[in-house]
Amino acid sequence: MTSRPTVAIESEAQQIIDRYHEMSDLDLAAEAGKVCRQVHGEGVLLRGLIEFSNRCTRNCLYCGIRRGNHHVQRYSLSEAEIRESVRVGFQRGLRTFVLQGGEDPLWSTTDIARVVEWIKDYTCGEAAVTLSLGIKSRRCYALLRRAGADRYLLRFETSNPELHSYLRDGISLARRIEALKDLKDLEYETGTGYMVGLPGESEWTRVRNALLARELKADMVGIGPFLPHPQTPLAGSPQQPLSLTLRAVSLVRLLLPRCHMPATTAAGSLDPAGREKALSAGANVLMPNLTPTIYKADYQLYPGKICLDESGVKCIGCLSLRVKTVGRRLDFSIGAAL
Ligand code: SF4
Repeated sequence: MTSRPTVAIESEAQQIIDRYHEMSDLDLAAEAGKVCRQVHGEGVLLRGLIEFSNRCTRNCLYCGIRRGNHHVQRYSLSEAEIRESVRVGFQRGLRTFVLQGGEDPLWSTTDIARVVEWIKDYTCGEAAVTLSLGIKSRRCYALLRRAGADRYLLRFETSNPELHSYLRDGISLARRIEALKDLKDLEYETGTGYMVGLPGESEWTRVRNALLARELKADMVGIGPFLPHPQTPLAGSPQQPLSLTLRAVSLVRLLLPRCHMPATTAAGSLDPAGREKALSAGANVLMPNLTPTIYKADYQLYPGKICLDESGVKCIGCLSLRVKTVGRRLDFSIGAAL
């Protein structure tokens, strides 16, 4: 895989644009929703999210916790706070825990490995551990895998190489793809994803995003709308409608029927019914936020994030009601890659 689109990808991207361009939002969502139900059933898998550190050495232009944002109150959970969040989630029935943070050098790989080992011990191996810690060396990924980590999320955000370098603090798309390949080689269940509606993005970019996710053989693909954060250099960028994101969710569902796809909190932040709409358009996962409530407001990669005052357990109750409105039910199983 190179960061440059091949002729074959260009040609397939054109075919996809030709095929889906004329389809209405509703027809596309209906087709993707049907495929989702055939492959994944009515259940909506739950992943308990723990945002354990908002410290980050990177300066991605769109991100509310970029190192250049001096308005953010920085925090890191203690290991005891992480353990308590896991205990609460496990007792409520969750069987996947996602440890997510910025690229924080104060958390060593060994420290994270110790937390992973604790979760696997505490849950007697019944729960999966997903890490989302950004780019690390293959050696670090291997150490974390040996500690018991099952899954890793590393979104590429855009398949446009120039846009990627510009938005992501000079990190090349090729470097991110290399990291994703390392994760695959190490037999992680691998998640990736992207934003929709970034400044400088075209319909071509969006189709190539989906094709890149397929080329990477992603087990999970998270797609959320770009929401311009007022404390970033992209403040004042236009807000694109949620429908663009929903079309992207549907396209990935049609290209990658077996992958797991969250109905993202970002979609719910742009539109109060955004997550329900994403579920109807092909998503099959929700991520209740187990981070202690006192920290939630300080982890805003995008503005207007919802559910900042609710505990993770309360979120599960709310999600249970919400999924019923679209004819679905919560599924507390581990939800491994298919
Ligand atoms: S997107 Fe991730 S790597 Fe970039 S600044 Fe935000 S937390 Fe850091």
